[in-house]
Order: sequence, then structure tokens, then C-alpha cells
Amino acid sequence: MDSSQQVKDNIGGGAIRLLSADVSSKIAAGEVVERPASVVKELVENSLDAEATEITVEIAGGGVDRILVVDNGRGIPSDQIELAFERFATSKVADEGDLEGISTLGFRGEALPSIAAVSTVVMTSKTPDEESGTRLRVEEGRTYGRERAGAPNGTSLSVSHLFRNFPVRRKFLRSVSTETSRIQALMIRYALAYPEKRFRLSVAGTEALATTGSGDLREAVAAVYGLNTAQGMLEIVRAPDGPEPAQVEITGMVGSASLHRANRNRVSLFVNRRWVQVRSLGYAVEQAYHGFLMERRFPVAVVNVDLPPEEVDVNVHPAKTEVRFRREGRVFAALQQAVRRTVM
Ligand code: ADP
Ligand code: MG
Repeated sequence: MDSSQQVKDNIGGGAIRLLSADVSSKIAAGEVVERPASVVKELVENSLDAEATEITVEIAGGGVDRILVVDNGRGIPSDQIELAFERFATSKVADEGDLEGISTLGFRGEALPSIAAVSTVVMTSKTPDEESGTRLRVEEGRTYGRERAGAPNGTSLSVSHLFRNFPVRRKFLRSVSTETSRIQALMIRYALAYPEKRFRLSVAGTEALATTGSGDLREAVAAVYGLNTAQGMLEIVRAPDGPEPAQVEITGMVGSASLHRANRNRVSLFVNRRWVQVRSLGYAVEQAYHGFLMERRFPVAVVNVDLPPEEVDVNVHPAKTEVRFRREGRVFAALQQAVRRTVM
């Protein structure tokens, strides 16, 4: 039975009880792990937080059958592997004060337990100072068979049978091809946000995306959108008089007006290197093209908005794609002006 159903069934009758840890972890799972793409997002962000320079993702069956994420990051020490699957266990935030200035992509310690609550996870990890790696299997929250395993430095996480025993959740999934394209769209965002990392995505054994990790954004754009688009991209022109007000720094590339598209799919915005979907920021970019694009046509844009962490609140939504700014007006203005300067 789906956990939310289970909870609903409890409403109305009987005494108030604390949810068992098992149920509450599944509810949290519902917020963090909505669909296969959310699993990929959390795992890739963990790899980025672990300072991996190469991240390989393999998926099958739209990610429902299998998701494998392999990184060459710092790994998890053998004695902490079980802990990583505990709820609210994180190495990234120590106290409440830390939440004011988050510089990592993860911070809630919810992803691994949430994913493991609704799937079968096999994690293998090795830190550089360990002789051998450790492998752990977690099936719907239950831990099995820890063992030593030969492994390179880094972490590999295999997620299979996603939502197998969660029919309600499964009902909300779309076709294999739709779930696959969501994952592809997500990987494209990471490839654009981190041109210095090597990303690889393979879909049912076929390579769907590969970047070189050279650090060159135009090269990353070419890898994901093709050479033609890459050649039509303009590097964002910096403000003539140093950093923008409110210490907002805008970098990246925007397409010349000739690259217009029928939808917003190629507008990617990153705040402190986190992919965000903030309506007002997208609007600032579109407004900057006013007079250059026809009605209902949208630009190509890869824009990084960087500002001091205490100017942004990322702790707004479990999926962390929404953010709030302390001074939204200034961010909006800085972004719009930077893009305008570039396309003029
Ligand atoms: P969060 O990212 O919010 O800290 P997670 O549940 O995603 O929470 O991960 C829990 C902890 O497990 C992380 O804080 C980190 O210490 C460790 N971890 C997870 N994935 C990796 C990885 N790929 N490489 C190294 N450490 C990892
Ligand atoms: Mg995480």
C-alpha cells in the first residue's frame, strides 16, 4: 500500500499516534522522490557535493527498472555507510546556523533514506585512504549484506525496482520515454552548469549525452545542443563597473536572437550552481530580449546567478528547485541588464 494511502486510512479513527519512523520516512520519500528523475537529481547532486570530476549515469526502463550513478568523488568511509541511509544524517550541515549559508547542493540528509525506502539500493563506496571498498544493500529501508568489495575511489549507487511496492506512486509515472526525457533534460542542466565535470548518460545501453569536462561552456553547449547552437551563443557581457548591486554576479551564455525556440526548454538558470526553476528569473531573461524576439518565441540561455549564500534561501521546497532571494528586485534587475547588454 502506498504510504499516503496508509496515512489517509488512519485519519478519522482512533488516537493520535506518532507515525512510525518507517511511515514518516516514506512520506518524506514522497516529497523527495516523486519520479525517477528526482532520484537521478539527488544522486548526481551527491556526486557533485563529493567533488567528483566524472559522473556517469545509466538508466533503463525510464529509470524505474534501474538507475546507476557512478562517481569518482571522495567516497564514504566504511564505518559511515549505514549512517548515510539514516534520515537527517548529513555530513553537510552541522547546526541550524549552517542553514543560513548553504554552499552544498544537499543538506537535509533525506535523499538516500527516501530513495532507499521505495526501491532496492546497492551502494559501493571507497575513500582514497581505504584499501578496499564497502558494499551495502538496502531494500525498502531494510539493510542487508554489508561486504567488502573491490572498487575504485568514489561511490556507485544502483537503484532498482523503484516504487515496486508503491502502486499509487507508480500510477503517477508517465511512459518510459517521458520519464527518460525528464532524466535527459536534467542531465543536460548539470552538463551546462558544470562544464568542468565529465558527464555521461546512457539510456538502455546507448550513449545519450557525453561532455568532455574541459571547463569550456561553449563546448558543453555543443555537446548537448549541437554545434550550430553553440556557435550562436554570446558570452554574457560583464557589468562595466564591477559586480552588480547586491553582489550579484551574472555569467554564462545567451543565444543570439536567431536561435529562438517555441518553448522555454532551453532556458537554464543556475543560482550558486544549483539548477532552479524560478519564474521571475526566467521572465527577466525573456524581458531582456524584448524587441528582439517575436511574441511567444523563447531564447536559448545558460545563465549563472552567483551571490553570497546568505542572500538566498534554498530551504523552500524539498526538491530545492525553488529559491527565495533576500533582495529579489536587485537580482532580477542585474540579470535583466546583463542579458540585455549582451544581446543588444
Ligand atoms: P544530503 O546530501 O542532504 O547530506 P543524502 O541523504 O543525499 O543527504 O546523503 C547523506 C550523506 O551521505 C551525505 O551528507 C554524504 O556525506 C554521503 N554521501 C551521499 N552520496 C555520496 C557520494 N556520492 N559520495 C560521497 N558521499 C556521499
Ligand atoms: Mg543529497
